[in-house]
Parts: sequence; structure tokens; C-alpha cells
Amino acid sequence: MAFKLPDLPYAYDALQPHIDKRTMKIHHTKHHAGYTNKLNAAIEGTDLAKKSIEDILKKASKHGDAVRNNAGGFYNHSLFWRTMGPNEGAEPKGKLAKAIKDSFGSYEKFKEKFSAAAKTRFGSGWAWLCVGRGGKLFVTSTPNQDNPLMDCAPKKGTPILGLDVWEHAYYLKYQNKRPDYVEAFFSVANWSVVSREYTKATKKK
Ligand code: MN
Repeated sequence: MAFKLPDLPYAYDALQPHIDKRTMKIHHTKHHAGYTNKLNAAIEGTDLAKKSIEDILKKASKHGDAVRNNAGGFYNHSLFWRTMGPNEGAEPKGKLAKAIKDSFGSYEKFKEKFSAAAKTRFGSGWAWLCVGRGGKLFVTSTPNQDNPLMDCAPKKGTPILGLDVWEHAYYLKYQNKRPDYVEAFFSVANWSVVSREYTKATKKK
């Protein structure tokens, strides 16, 4: 069965002023749709067409660049959309807040680490908050459309929050000012959804 482009759980203008409507619309209907279509084309008629996206990513390095890049693009953006929302000023709560404190010292320290990963990723890629072994959280970044579920990732874990730092994610509004986009991202991170992702990821371990 072919992978399907997920709908956004909010309107294209819902994340304004932090992420503008035009960027969101192009990003979803052109970029994410493109990864989805190319992934489906790359796996059509192969054994991968019957696998889950997670199973495909687990052996990404074995499937060739078309599958690696487009399976990554499909998965990464699906997580990106659902872990954002119009949640001005919200911070993590409950078990996730405790895990962030245990792993990084404080929410502020986590923010610093995540921001640094996003700002210093050279060229295109992603910054991630992941659940690693024993349920401990860590921050990492990956190039292109790679992610920490892939066998070829330098640090493996289950991503529960990702930030797209490709220029297509911010250039219309922020131009070269990636740090301003990274800062604005914290105003649209949907911590209640990230908490659910955290619970799911810790149950899997
Ligand atoms: Mn993107």
C-alpha cells in the first residue's frame, strides 16, 4: 500500500507569525508531497511496499539513495507537522518535563542544546530530540533527510521532536537568519503531542 501525505492538523496560517502561511503551504503541498510521491515510486513493486516506514528506515543504508532520502523526507515531515501547533509560550509538562530535567538539567538547558544543534547543522538537515536507551533523552542532528531511526545515523534513537533546518523551511520569512527561525520554533512546539510521542517511544523500549 502506498504511503499517503498526511493532512496538517491545523490551517496553513495557524503558526503565524512564527511560521508564515506561504512557507507552510509550499512546504506541505510541494516538498512533503514530493518526498511522498518519490518514495512511493521508488518502492513500487518491491518488498518495501509492504513494510512500515519505520522498518524501511531501520535499513535505510541498504536501500539506495532514492529510498533513503524520500523515506526520510516522508517520515521527518510527518513528525514535524504533528509536533507543532499554535501553542504560544507552552512548555513541557508531566513525565516529559521530568525526563528533560533529568537528561539536560533544565528546560532552558535543553533549549540551548537543541538550538545549537539546529543552528550549527551545516547545510540542510534536522535537529532532533530523541529517546535513547533506557528512556534517556538526547539531542542530535542529521544531514539531508536522514534521521536517528536510520542504521546509518551516528546516534540512534526514537525522535519525538524534529526541527527542519533546510532553507525551504524558513527562507521566505527569515532569509539567512536561521537562528531567528530556530528561536521562533519554540513558540510553536506542541508539547502535549511531544509528550505522547515520548510515552509511545518509552513503551517500545
Ligand atoms: Mn522540509
